[in-house]
Amino acid sequence: MTRFKIVPLLLACVFCTQACRQSTFDRYFEDKSLRIDYMSMGDAQSQTAVVHELREEPVWGGPKKNLIEPFGYGEYLLEVYDHESSELIYSRSFCSLFGEWRTTAEAKTETQAWYNSISIPYPKNTILVDLKSRNKADMQFYSIMQHVIDPSSMFIDKAPLADNKVVAIQDNGDPAEKVDLVFIAEGYTQDELDKFFADAERFTEALFNCPPFDTCRDQWNVWAVGTVSIDSGTSSSGVGIYKNTALKTGYYTFGLDRYLTTKDMKSIKDATWNVPCDAVFLLINAETYGGGGIYNSYACGTADNERTLNVFTHEFGHSFAGLGDEYFESTVAYESYYNLEKELWEPNITTLVDFDSKWKDLLPEGTPIPTPLNDETKDGIGVFEGGGYLSEGIYRPMDHCMMRDYAPFCPACSRAILKMVDFLSDKQ
Ligand SMILES: [Zn+2]
Repeated sequence: MTRFKIVPLLLACVFCTQACRQSTFDRYFEDKSLRIDYMSMGDAQSQTAVVHELREEPVWGGPKKNLIEPFGYGEYLLEVYDHESSELIYSRSFCSLFGEWRTTAEAKTETQAWYNSISIPYPKNTILVDLKSRNKADMQFYSIMQHVIDPSSMFIDKAPLADNKVVAIQDNGDPAEKVDLVFIAEGYTQDELDKFFADAERFTEALFNCPPFDTCRDQWNVWAVGTVSIDSGTSSSGVGIYKNTALKTGYYTFGLDRYLTTKDMKSIKDATWNVPCDAVFLLINAETYGGGGIYNSYACGTADNERTLNVFTHEFGHSFAGLGDEYFESTVAYESYYNLEKELWEPNITTLVDFDSKWKDLLPEGTPIPTPLNDETKDGIGVFEGGGYLSEGIYRPMDHCMMRDYAPFCPACSRAILKMVDFLSDKQ
């Protein structure tokens, strides 16, 4: 008897929790976005940030129930508090290219200021925005910027921006309940836009043919924004090629020929001002191998290299699900990127300091930790030494994975991707 009473009670609690979280959105937010543009300044040792500009934008494409992020990923954490009650009402973690730059040799000898931007649902009342950065020494977040924002301020810009052509590659419904992936055209001239929209469709099909994305296609919307570039292609400063393109991408980020990125977050945000957006991929009209992916910021890659679709999926793994690189053989520009004394935040690599928080529950019983790599273990999940750019001290879940060498995603990566899909489509 008791059993039959408990089940409806539990169901009632689940529905209540869902409804309560939706009502939190309605109590504190309007169905549009507040874009917070800020400058990050600093060097390898320290950093700070200041607000640059605020904008009201017409669309909020993020979740409305999942307002507080549970993952604990990233190098930065944005927290939004209701100013009157001090209640935490929104949070998201992310990374930035500036954060990566701080780990390069250049940051040991000079200070720089970089532009960045993050959007939150538009608040109804005054909020306190607290931007925190992760301290590598203890892996905790510490505040680098606190800013009070009155949403009725006349200084919040409301001007419409460029009305680019936007095509719905796949529209499955309410953006709050879907992951909204936005392809932005980079290095396509006006005459090349038809090629861009065809490329975006090709990339969309490739993504949803790739496990685990093939299992959740109905949880996604896909949009393509036809930003127009003056020049075709992208810059390659290491060989003296400089192009005038919409998003100012280029190879040779931090001096690495294949590391293709942009510092121009303003143009990325301008391109998505009127489009629901949970994840961005900059589709670059070029053939040479290259790309980059920055967690909850953007990923990019070229349209026409023979390994293009693998690069897309790998870089999207970084930007969408916070996955770390599982390779350890290639040159990178970073110095002391990971603190081996602490656990890493990426869900697919570990220092074994707190392996319980990683993929330990996915291991078959009796799996040795770490797992020796041999004929018996090489095709299964384990804890294999080598990953995160280091051959020792960091461990990966399988010998091969999309995050190492373009093999299919390993089980730890797949689980992290599906968790993020559920979070962003309000399913959790
Ligand atoms: Zn993996």
